[in-house]
Amino acid sequence: MEKVKLLIIGAGPGGYVAAIRAAQLGLDPVVVERLDLGGTCLNKGCIPTKALIAAAEVYDAVLNSKTMGVFCEPSFDWIKVVEHAKNAVSKNRKGIQFLFKKNKIRLVNGVAEFTGTKTVRVGEIEFDAQNIIIATGSKVKDIPVFAVDGEKIISSDHALFQEKLPESIAVIGGGVIGVEMAYIYSTFGVNVTIIEALETIIPFEDHEVSKELTKEFKKKKIKIYAGVCVEKVVKRDSKMVVILNNGVEIEVDQVLSSVGRSPNTDGLGLDNAGIETDERGFIRTDSCFRTSVEGVYAVGDVIATPMLAHTAEHEGISTVEQIAGKDVSPVDYHLNPGCIYCQPSVASIGYSEREAVEKGIEIKVGKFPFSANGKAVASNHTTGFVKVITEAEAGKIIGAHIIGYGATDLISEFLPAMKLGATVHDIIESIHPHPTLCEATLEAALNSIGRTIHM
Ligand code: NAD
Repeated sequence: MEKVKLLIIGAGPGGYVAAIRAAQLGLDPVVVERLDLGGTCLNKGCIPTKALIAAAEVYDAVLNSKTMGVFCEPSFDWIKVVEHAKNAVSKNRKGIQFLFKKNKIRLVNGVAEFTGTKTVRVGEIEFDAQNIIIATGSKVKDIPVFAVDGEKIISSDHALFQEKLPESIAVIGGGVIGVEMAYIYSTFGVNVTIIEALETIIPFEDHEVSKELTKEFKKKKIKIYAGVCVEKVVKRDSKMVVILNNGVEIEVDQVLSSVGRSPNTDGLGLDNAGIETDERGFIRTDSCFRTSVEGVYAVGDVIATPMLAHTAEHEGISTVEQIAGKDVSPVDYHLNPGCIYCQPSVASIGYSEREAVEKGIEIKVGKFPFSANGKAVASNHTTGFVKVITEAEAGKIIGAHIIGYGATDLISEFLPAMKLGATVHDIIESIHPHPTLCEATLEAALNSIGRTIHM
């Protein structure tokens, strides 16, 4: 039995970032990983998706370059596009390997299984750990009526790297993965249909943002069925037929199931340690990420907090700092930004307009379209808007929603602002550089108090 100070199970963004911080704090972490460093985010999530999206954006720009006086013959080689995504993964993986070496972090390849409350077996080795962090992430949620087979019915795991694009695809689930993949595939010429059970695609975003993305996707000829459920998916000759509960039948070459993810706890032996899970299988923790067993913590997708890489990183760091005896403030999920990287891209933080109204908060809303922003007009990125939600009286910012080019970077203006309890007046009194897309955030702030300049 090997005694260790800290054992981290899983080397995704939750686990590997926690390990680096733990090493900095002298906790000598040992990390167990059964697959590759970087987890879903790096190997089959955020990073390869962003590489494919970057390629799609370049192709999109080439397709539309004539309006800027640039003429070229657009063409692409999907295999090379996928190669670009694989290269991005491998370069980033080498980066984590380097960081592990630099921080002298021991990595054990293998499957971890609890054998007792604080003991974990990995192959031949058994660890007795003072503290354990479970960061085992999530896996694709599989629905029996359209079970993923990896060929005709695929998940994002397959969609990112498949060698050949289908002529048509039905995307079941218009959430984050659904719209990002729909953007990539449709840009590269695939006939895409999205089916979403709720009333709109990206239903968790501010309603005006969902509406704008729907409008833009329709312009790209993406078909959208919202507010309908898939009854079943059947094979008909070489095609797949998606049968909806309103009687509509959609015939396609492939189906992408993107209806959410579920926690990865299979084979972990949680029962051997007495670690409790909730009714959906997520590991139960308190707000300090402590599980039902003292000294065992859980962070990231395996707990019931937003399934986002940056959230997992934040939770991992917070946990390690607590273990090291530091004073840590609880993670504030109200200030947890969400980003969707299709084009137009989407980013948000805080309350949507509907949420604020439902909470009975008296609000003001400020909005400014990119079509009235100088930089956006100059660079042909006029789609979308910035929307800011404030508490009516003092103008305190309680929500910000951006759809348009650069949204996922622009949202950062609101992060420290909201953390510091800023009002729209603080934004207005900050000189914004000209010409930039971030002037649209300034104008949205001005709009909330009826003082817009450029509209
Ligand atoms: P999601 O929860 O974002 O979206 C799933 C969508 O499927 C929902 O809108 C839901 O209403 C719909 N749905 C569920 N069952 C359905 C059915 N039977 N028929 C039709 N629609 C159905 O889940 P996801 O897109 O699979 O992503 C999984 C997780 O990964 C999410 O938590 C997401 O935040 C995260 N993720 C984040 C990013 C990012 O930050 N850019 C990218 C990819 C994934």
